[in-house]
Amino acid sequence: MRGCLRGVGESSRLLYTLAAGEQPAVVVGVHHGEADNTFTLTPAGEKLDALASGEISSRLLNSGSLLKGGSWRLVGKVHPDLGQVVAVGLGKPSGVQDEENIDMDRESVRKAAAAGVRAVTDLGLKEVQIENFGDCEAAGEGATLANWAFDRFKAEKKPRPAVTPLDSFTEEWLNGVRLGSAQNFARDLMECPANHLTPTLFVAEVIQQMKGLPVNIEARDQSWAEKMGMGSFLSVSRGSSEPPMFLEMSFLNGVKDADPIVLVGKGVTFDTGGISIKPSAKMDKMRADMGGAATVTATLKAVAEAALPVNLIVLVPLTENMPGGRATKPGDVVTAMNGKTIQVDNTDAEGRLILADALTYADKFNPRCVLDVATLTGAMMVALGTGATGVFSTSSKDFDVLSAAGRKTGDRVWRMPLWQHYTQQMKKSPLADLNNISLTPGGGACTAAAFLKEFTSCKNWMHLDIAGVMENEGAVSYMGSGMSGRPTRTLFQFVKDLQ
Ligand SMILES: [Zn+2]
Repeated sequence: MRGCLRGVGESSRLLYTLAAGEQPAVVVGVHHGEADNTFTLTPAGEKLDALASGEISSRLLNSGSLLKGGSWRLVGKVHPDLGQVVAVGLGKPSGVQDEENIDMDRESVRKAAAAGVRAVTDLGLKEVQIENFGDCEAAGEGATLANWAFDRFKAEKKPRPAVTPLDSFTEEWLNGVRLGSAQNFARDLMECPANHLTPTLFVAEVIQQMKGLPVNIEARDQSWAEKMGMGSFLSVSRGSSEPPMFLEMSFLNGVKDADPIVLVGKGVTFDTGGISIKPSAKMDKMRADMGGAATVTATLKAVAEAALPVNLIVLVPLTENMPGGRATKPGDVVTAMNGKTIQVDNTDAEGRLILADALTYADKFNPRCVLDVATLTGAMMVALGTGATGVFSTSSKDFDVLSAAGRKTGDRVWRMPLWQHYTQQMKKSPLADLNNISLTPGGGACTAAAFLKEFTSCKNWMHLDIAGVMENEGAVSYMGSGMSGRPTRTLFQFVKDLQ
């Protein structure tokens, strides 16, 4: 059913008063039409509209204003066999936009599904059936990501409606829900207060979450790291009374003995900055300085649940960065696992110190590729804001796979330079082979990447700096506010698509 809005009446979200109904609410989509002030119902919407003798389109027509993409409107009860009908806007179909490197239609579906969940939550309804808007996977993702809140420590929990697809549980819908749930798992880990998620508790939580999945988990302690010669990693944990842990997880479901993909995640469960202590404003956010660890762990969970035919290894160095009496001091020199010495001029540049040894350790698996993911530098937030994860790559081919993955998931990446120019800056240390910070101001995300490059011998290595995308304050409308769990779905898609 096509419709054209007649006149500009009173625009109202609540067109009809809610009556208590037993059936689940139903969410259907509305596209903008080609001509101004016209709209088109999706095929699912048309079907219900026909059942209700045109009542859905007629109520929308009389509602006075066009439903914008990502917004919702209560249509109400239109048929005895249907619960409350909610219409959500899909905007105009716009396809893949190369300049934006995004599939706008999939984004519109995520936004619409999320708007449906928000509507039902606001209306106090307990159950909802959401149509697929032509893309079951994106609908499942949007609905799942919108239906999240971190209220573990609150007596009053946010109501979360039970969400099911309107048609049937297709493989794509289930995959979308799986991806959304994986990202929500990463968000839970990132939001969790640091006193409830120490390195030891992170390991316990992961073991719990991976129960029943064919994932092998090895949790290594400080003495193991000492034996491995991980002097760079251990220099960060010195100031804390919480023992560090090194988590090694593997899911081997690919061709036997095929070189594995290795993901490395920064797991600083709280970052005070150490002796180079941070200002106190917003320091609480540093509970999410294990966002890399959270996203790679969540990716592994989704990969194992989906039983992807890949060999995947995930490495997570876990520690607090605290200014205790034994803490590393500015100017101290430490020796990394690969024998290189590092002058620690700033103890708040600790992420690269723990990743350095994890990258060296990753070499022993003879990896197909290594990706490290880290909330590494404030400079990345300055460079790209919340728009994209910054990526430094030694392989253009693999970067292209990651970039295409981001286009599909809507959680994009952007390539940054990995040049000798920056490496030279990191070699200006009076006391050691490398300095952990550049003494020349500017390009902080690039110099951090150049530092990490000194610790991997993998030909296909990528470093993902997720500091800018760590938190969502409205930039991604289908997620709500809080820690973001980005770019979990892009990592999953990359692992799936990499040849
Ligand atoms: Zn730091």
